[in-house]
Amino acid sequence: MKNQINLLPEDIPTKWYNVLTDIPQPFPPPKDPEGGPSRIEALPKLLIGECLKQESSTERWIDIPEALIELYLRAGRPRPLFRAKALEDALQTPAKLYYKGEFFSPTGSHKVNTALAQAYYAGQEGYERLTTETGAGQWGTALAYAASLLGLKCTIFWVRAVYNWKTSRRNFMKLLGAEVYPSPSDQTDVGRALISKNPHHPGSLGIAISEGLEDSQKDPKATYCLGSVLNHVLLHQTIIGLETKRQFEKIGTYPDIMVSCLGGGSNFGGFILPFVPDVVKGGKKLRFIAAQSKAAPNLQGEYRYDFADHAELTPMLKMYTLGHTAEMEPIKGDGLRYHGCSPIISYLRHLGFIETVAYPSDEKHVFERARLFIQTEGYLPAPESAYSIACAIDEALKCKEKGEAKVIAFNISGHGFMDMLGYQEVLKM
Ligand SMILES: *Cc1c(COP(=O)(O)O)cnc(C)c1O
Repeated sequence: MKNQINLLPEDIPTKWYNVLTDIPQPFPPPKDPEGGPSRIEALPKLLIGECLKQESSTERWIDIPEALIELYLRAGRPRPLFRAKALEDALQTPAKLYYKGEFFSPTGSHKVNTALAQAYYAGQEGYERLTTETGAGQWGTALAYAASLLGLKCTIFWVRAVYNWKTSRRNFMKLLGAEVYPSPSDQTDVGRALISKNPHHPGSLGIAISEGLEDSQKDPKATYCLGSVLNHVLLHQTIIGLETKRQFEKIGTYPDIMVSCLGGGSNFGGFILPFVPDVVKGGKKLRFIAAQSKAAPNLQGEYRYDFADHAELTPMLKMYTLGHTAEMEPIKGDGLRYHGCSPIISYLRHLGFIETVAYPSDEKHVFERARLFIQTEGYLPAPESAYSIACAIDEALKCKEKGEAKVIAFNISGHGFMDMLGYQEVLKM
């Protein structure tokens, strides 16, 4: 048996999968808060038209435009599925481990899958500039890349505390032609008000979102892009799970457990959603486990309506949330630090289909597990992806105790070439 399972470029999926057509209804829609202006009526001015349409689409399969398939191919899709034989041997587990290689990405993460789609639609709709926020930096880099390939300008508001130390990633964004500002910045009213009080304000994702929104609203040629949480983002990411499903079909195998890390839910959703109807409708016994940090265990929060941003500019979404003003301690897997989980994954959890585990915020357990993965399989995962690996290894060790040869599939959402400082600090190298 070969340890790499892959598809040919001509076998790349040509449609995304819309899980909303296969889950029990009613799926709770977004709603407006009781006071203030209608956020829902403002959405067409905020989001790309096609993305807004996809947000509540009732079609099961949505065509990926031909030009976008070309871009996916240029970005190296389809991505391989590997059998982690060396890791299995090191663990001496009867479990069979498989991992999807989203780290084979031009910018380092799965986020290019939706960045390319959003930039493509924005260009089709006549926009010339994309604005966004970024926290850990992976989303900003992915959007800068997509904008560059599609000949669009890109403006990124990056949480100042992270902007200041991730110089390599900052230069990568600039190399791709993006304008990058530490947030709060002097480019917007929101930012100027904050830096007039404190020129060294560390910023937050909520503030950066407000800056991105304000910037795009003031320029008719600009539109705002979001990198996770929303239904259309998860839809674009289903390319991951669709490929994975075909790869398992090729070897006549089906997973017993699927694992990935979860911040807002886009890589986890993209990985598992194409398998969800088999469980919800087909009665398959497949477990889905979301690996989180105790710094932001949003799936263990409350299931209720909440805002997606700190400044309450977005509609309210029904989701598992820690509260949109919750303070979360810093971790190296910064991409997992978000207060809420995507409405689709939240709903599936509410219905009892999603399990979750939250690892201690000192991150020693996850980074030690990642070290074993690096030493056996040889790939360097992003700090966020280390959570996925830790969870897969923990499950493989449970299989060892019970003598069970389960098939465990895990997604590796990104590489860690720009996050070595994280490994260095946590593992005291
Ligand atoms: C952004 C990011 C995550 C977390 O976001 P999700 O939307 O939950 O996927 C995980 N891994 C990597 C590499 C990321 O860049």
